[in-house]
Amino acid sequence: PSSSRCTAISKSPLTETIFDSNAGGPLGPEIKASGYDAIIVSGFSRKPAVIVIDCGEVKVIEAEGYWGLKTSETIEAIKRDFGSEFKVACIGPAGENQVYISCIRAGEGNFFGRGGLGAVMGSKKLKAIAVRGDLKVEVANNELLGELSRKALDRIKINPITGKVLPKLGTPFLTKIINDIGALPTKNFKEKSWIEENSYSGEAIARYIVQRTACPMCPIACKAQIEVNENKMHRPEYETLWALGVNCQVNEIEHVFTASKLCDELGLDTISTGSTIACLTELSQKGIIKDKLRWGDGKAIISLIEKTAQRKDLGELIALGAERLAEKFGAKEAAMTVKKLELPAYDPRELYGMALAYATSNRGGCHLRSYMVAMEVLGVPILIDRKTPVGKAELVAVNQNFLAAVDSLIMCKFATLELDDEIISHILTAVVGKTFDRGKLLTIGERIWNLEHLFNLKAGLKSTDDTLPARLLEGSEVPLSEMLEHYYEIRGWDKIGFIRERKLRELDLLDVVGHETSR
Ligand code: SF4
Repeated sequence: PSSSRCTAISKSPLTETIFDSNAGGPLGPEIKASGYDAIIVSGFSRKPAVIVIDCGEVKVIEAEGYWGLKTSETIEAIKRDFGSEFKVACIGPAGENQVYISCIRAGEGNFFGRGGLGAVMGSKKLKAIAVRGDLKVEVANNELLGELSRKALDRIKINPITGKVLPKLGTPFLTKIINDIGALPTKNFKEKSWIEENSYSGEAIARYIVQRTACPMCPIACKAQIEVNENKMHRPEYETLWALGVNCQVNEIEHVFTASKLCDELGLDTISTGSTIACLTELSQKGIIKDKLRWGDGKAIISLIEKTAQRKDLGELIALGAERLAEKFGAKEAAMTVKKLELPAYDPRELYGMALAYATSNRGGCHLRSYMVAMEVLGVPILIDRKTPVGKAELVAVNQNFLAAVDSLIMCKFATLELDDEIISHILTAVVGKTFDRGKLLTIGERIWNLEHLFNLKAGLKSTDDTLPARLLEGSEVPLSEMLEHYYEIRGWDKIGFIRERKLRELDLLDVVGHETSR
């Protein structure tokens, strides 16, 4: 269950780290049904192109006619030209213009959102990949898989979050909970909670729902269509509502819906876009840029989003992402980023596990590499003290290993709010026919984590990049250095982040890596 997803992988133009971004929707199953497990795109085209994979046959076609179209227009045009059964991943004008914070759309309401991967497609002049398949997916042990899936479904249904809250309210259920503990950053992380958040609560957003939806074969069904002023759109996620709304202190929720839809159509990552606009607003308020921007101006945000995709006027600055933008004006303190990736909607000053998870994430400021919010706020599987460093290094490392394995299975992380490493390893056994247990699964995750770390070291990242923005450390009590030191020890890395030979041997990676990144 919940494994019908798809992952886009590249070196990120935004973070310069290795980057994978995971999207829901029917694209992943269609690629598998077309006979492929992965599509590798190397090189680039001189003219706009679309890769069409029709039941295993691959063609690259010229796509001048699609270039410049918005994402939904592109999907519609490709389906019209090739057949409505095709599933399409595409970029919008932002990706074409190689905006650092551009994304890839994978159908209605599904995006490879983070890391500027839209710009990677844009740099290759690749407007879209369209896939149609007719193969059935075979598994090693159908009977065992059926039995385990039924067990997993029962557990997902009984769990209050996966069985009730997510299906009813989706991720916006988090707004009130996170605001109540003072961990909902606003005004570019200048403040930690926002009194107006009620219009953003799960219940408030649910009033706009006209239809509940789901990725294929997902019993959680956390998605929904909403209708706003007779316009239908997918319900924005909690992170989007935060970035384009709460963080910029926009009161009118309908402006936030419009901004979210516009990002989708132009192919912009909503988190990075909202955070970079917040950064720009701070620069304006401080008089560092001459243009006047104010907090809470939803209409201005909508106009800035248009300009960002076109790299026009102030949009040229937002297109850089927050860190490059702030550095351009000698004001790095205004960039709420880790490794150049804009931080999402959980204030690490209130959540020490998340602080360490952000700082050590292999793809930069991301909540999904080790979602410590589950334990520190939601009590899944148990509630732990969110403001102590004790035990956080161990928990973050184990979580990172587990979720790296889950990501490599291309499963939805929401399912892991109920399904643990034990049942997931048994499901994997049933699918591939080799025996896996939880220990083996976690070792796979640890190998992935270390390989990604090695990639980043070779790309020039340093242990000093494992940190948080100064604003979140100065004057706060987050014991980041203490947690980091312990984390490096647990990881088997030395003080500058090189992997010790003993650890490489233990993970059977010694032959894979060069000696310049190990000791
Ligand atoms: S939980 Fe939501 S995002 Fe995850 S697979 Fe199911 S419907 Fe898709």
